[in-house]
Amino acid sequence: VALPPPKMALSREKVIEEARKAAEWKTGDGKKGLSLVIIGHVDAGKSTLMGRLTYELGQMEEKKRRENERESNKAGKGSFMWAWEMDALGEERDRGVTIDINQSTLNLPNTSLTILDAPGHRDFVPNMISGASQADAALLVVDATTGEFEAGFAGGGQSREHVLLVRSLGVGTIVVAVNKLDMVNYSQARYEEICSTLKPFLVQSGFSPSKTTFVPVAGMAGVNLVEKDTEGSDGLRKWWKGQTLIDALDSLQPPGRPIEAPLRFPISNVFKGGGTSTMASGIGVSGRLASGVVQVGEKLRILPGDETAIVRTIEFEDNSVPWAAAGSNVTLYLSNVDPVNLNIGSVLCPPSDVVPLASSFIAQVIVFDIQVPITSGTSVELFHHSRDTPASVSKLLATLDRNTGNVIKANPRVLTKNTSAKIQLTLRGGTLSAPSSKATSIPIETFASNKEMGRILLRRGGETIAAGIVLELCP
Ligand code: GDP
Repeated sequence: VALPPPKMALSREKVIEEARKAAEWKTGDGKKGLSLVIIGHVDAGKSTLMGRLTYELGQMEEKKRRENERESNKAGKGSFMWAWEMDALGEERDRGVTIDINQSTLNLPNTSLTILDAPGHRDFVPNMISGASQADAALLVVDATTGEFEAGFAGGGQSREHVLLVRSLGVGTIVVAVNKLDMVNYSQARYEEICSTLKPFLVQSGFSPSKTTFVPVAGMAGVNLVEKDTEGSDGLRKWWKGQTLIDALDSLQPPGRPIEAPLRFPISNVFKGGGTSTMASGIGVSGRLASGVVQVGEKLRILPGDETAIVRTIEFEDNSVPWAAAGSNVTLYLSNVDPVNLNIGSVLCPPSDVVPLASSFIAQVIVFDIQVPITSGTSVELFHHSRDTPASVSKLLATLDRNTGNVIKANPRVLTKNTSAKIQLTLRGGTLSAPSSKATSIPIETFASNKEMGRILLRRGGETIAAGIVLELCP
């Protein structure tokens, strides 16, 4: 039975006012909301750490824990017990690696923390990009074991690439968990060696030291996660007087949110029906509000295309809510819409203020540590929120001074590693594996008009080659 679409309860101004109030919540009845992407080399212990953290916080039931233990023992992977909780997908359990973005919530004393668990496997960087583009802060997990930390940061190590990626995608705050300290007898010297290697690298990558925190932990044993005095932490307690991991995460400050800007909701997932709230039915789309506000009953335009939809319910952390604002990860249940028009990468916006579409634009990029230089005509994969599109570097306009942005050389022939440059990108139709010659347009904005909609990443042959911001859309 088709129910009549719900009515909008509040004016847009009222929703903005409420959202502003909610964003100012510090303690007391409301908690600050923050999303965290987990990054680091495969096997650094990310899943184990997050599973154990959930348990220590009393948010994993004992029954569930025993079930996880049984299941993981049965699969002959007892040491993966804690990770079992996080790696909820069947396929990734079988392979023992995290392959998709898992989303869950940790309730800390002052923060409702949305966890975006990113994959460490090399092939899965695109999933991580999707997670990072929805995050406010990153938790970098590094393995302190002799040789392992070094491997994660050597050429081909994912820690280095992940750090550059999250910073390029706008994440400005990072917590580093120096993990598996049990493997090095809780050595203070080893912890400090790792910190002193990482600090300059993080600064170079664009993280300000005031937004960088280091915490020594042993995830599997649960040392220094929630409580300072945990069994087995004798070695750590001798010298570590600082924060636990939870204290560090709970004291993170949410970045300013573009609440007043027009709504931009890039879709990161589409699924059919079956939400937890009674009204939820129809098509669910999940993602993070890049900017603006949305409320139940609102009519939204879907870009690209001419289609509109009505917001039937909004789900936030398993609750049905009347509205949501920039920075929140939500699921919208939509009615009066044909599902074929809802795709990953499409953007929902107010019909009166739609996101522009472009098939070509000028960007300022920083080139990563690449072997093969970029030339005019280079084929790339363009990543923008959860969308990836085949594209080509159609023009090399100038190389720029990394600090001042001044032009060093106009019309360079090639771009080599670690240069900053102004380039023109042109999208191609089709898919990554079968690009067509026909041009395509995607919803995208300049960084000046909407920061969240104006960041891009370029990859080639499974490797991230550059990241940057959109300067100008070409007609
Ligand atoms: P991920 O790939 O980063 O998610 O890593 P996992 O959580 O799957 O852990 C990889 C391996 O490291 C598993 O065999 C874990 O049992 C092991 N491991 C995880 N945390 C610790 C730790 O704190 N100490 C030790 N010694 N091993 C750990």
